[in-house]
Amino acid sequence: MSKPIYPIKVHCRSCNTLLYEYDKEGPGSLVKCFVDRITADHTKGDFKCPKCETPFCRLSQIGNRPIHKIIGGKVYIKGHCPK
Ligand SMILES: [Zn+2]
Repeated sequence: MSKPIYPIKVHCRSCNTLLYEYDKEGPGSLVKCFVDRITADHTKGDFKCPKCETPFCRLSQIGNRPIHKIIGGKVYIKGHCPK
């Protein structure tokens, strides 16, 4: 059984800059981004907001899938994503 996919946009909470467009697996709050589901990356790839330079995630992995682990409270999402 595959999980539903929710296309969302990830924004910097400090300055509202669009950071990632992302296909989220399943409902709930965003705690991590699987790198292979980031559909558009608007950052410089340095895990910081390109405008205000707030760090918002760090690189990690689950199994052999690299993830960007979101730092709590640094981003908000737009798009359909049930809790
Ligand atoms: Zn920012």
